[in-house]
Amino acid sequence: MIVMKFGGTSVGVPGNFDRASRLVAARTALDPVVVVSALAGVTNLLADFCRDARARPEVAGRMIERHESFAIETAVPVAAIRALLDAWVAEAGAWADRPEPITGADRDRVLSFGERLSAALFAAGLTALGAEARAVHAGEAGLVTDDRFGAAHPLPESFARVKDSLLRRPPIPVVTGFIGATLDGRVTTLGRGGSDYSAALIGAALEAEEIQIWTDTSGLLSADPRLVPEARAVPALSFAEASELAYFGAHVLHPKTLLPAMERDIPVRVLNTARPDDPGSLITPVSGPSDSPWHVKSIACKKRITAVTIVSTRMLLAHGFLARVFEVFGRHHVVVDLVTTSEVSISVTVDDTSRLEAAIAELEGIGRVEVREGLAVVAVVGEGAPQKIGLAGHLFTLLGGVGIAVEMISQGASRVNLSFVVRDEDADRAVRLLHRGLGLDVEVSVEKASRAMR
Ligand code: ADP
Ligand code: ASP
Ligand code: MG
Repeated sequence: MIVMKFGGTSVGVPGNFDRASRLVAARTALDPVVVVSALAGVTNLLADFCRDARARPEVAGRMIERHESFAIETAVPVAAIRALLDAWVAEAGAWADRPEPITGADRDRVLSFGERLSAALFAAGLTALGAEARAVHAGEAGLVTDDRFGAAHPLPESFARVKDSLLRRPPIPVVTGFIGATLDGRVTTLGRGGSDYSAALIGAALEAEEIQIWTDTSGLLSADPRLVPEARAVPALSFAEASELAYFGAHVLHPKTLLPAMERDIPVRVLNTARPDDPGSLITPVSGPSDSPWHVKSIACKKRITAVTIVSTRMLLAHGFLARVFEVFGRHHVVVDLVTTSEVSISVTVDDTSRLEAAIAELEGIGRVEVREGLAVVAVVGEGAPQKIGLAGHLFTLLGGVGIAVEMISQGASRVNLSFVVRDEDADRAVRLLHRGLGLDVEVSVEKASRAMR
């Protein structure tokens, strides 16, 4: 069997919805299990509903209008989503007179309407094509999680439960991405962009032959195409390469997606719903060739990063200093990305700063703490690239040539990733410059290249 996951733009644009359903219907012999995201923009709309009490009446109406007109445009009977729309009206009504933001378990239940509605639409669309399908709520199908609402972790028993409940096929299960449920049945969400992760978890549970991520680009590209129009698909990547890229900002895959696939050696393929004949990217345990003489496959970038430096002259030759620093970060649940040390200081970068303040207060007992905001991590990824003699020199000469200062460097800790920190406002320019300078652009017109250098 295979898992076919369709993202928001794949299911949320009528033409693509049609293409996506035909793609599944054409693969019934491969025994597909489908995973869908909410229609494009719907999760943002629901997040607005939670945040802004004044916007609620308008958003509540837009949700109904959007899904009803989508059903009509795609020739799906509105009856297929009637019960869910009624449930939405009841949910929205319950919040009408309450001025407070919606948080925690309530917020996850509100957000879940996006995926529940799109799964119902997609299952009805497939059935209309003659491929009998049923919509499945992932939480009800056994994807059980802890109760960290907004960023829930799947529990180990999920695998056996999902396997059991999705055993009966056909009808083709069309499973909601992004959501799960606690053991006592409250809806949870896996974090924004989490439908990719759902697909991988379901693929691992069912021991799929392949997990397909159908999206709006022809694979995992050599850079974010919004930043580098010349970016092209990387035909083959290793799990390690793709994980680093997803973690350091390649939005096309949720950072956790590859873990379940990696554990069970299931290939992940990234494909374009609008151009299904393009080969896309295949992610497996082994890395494929790179066009770049530097072995680089792709460049990712994560913005709005904060650097924390702890300076302590006492660190000089002191054992246990690093352990103390990381113990503080760990206890406050601060996730650290990059680390560099010197004899008297340690610098780390942090993406999510929501719990940083309390950690800093404690770190001040260990040494002098400096915090710098407005930074970006750029990750240059490719198997063997960090070990390639001359790469670092070449890279920093390129950046220095246009006056981009490098604030921190992390090289050699991994075989696949060389990352460094620049100021936020330099990040886009750095990615474009390196994409060209490392030989990842092909057939660049003079006009495009000069635009990229600006
Ligand atoms: P979906 O709705 O299918 O989950 P997303 O919007 O989450 O799609 O992810 C696809 C988008 O990720 C692309 O349209 C592109 O803008 C962005 N992206 C960033 N980096 C990359 C990359 N290296 N390769 C492909 N897409 C990327
Ligand atoms: N719909 C969810 C989001 O927008 C999950 C996803 O698209 O993967 O975050
Ligand atoms: Mg996505």
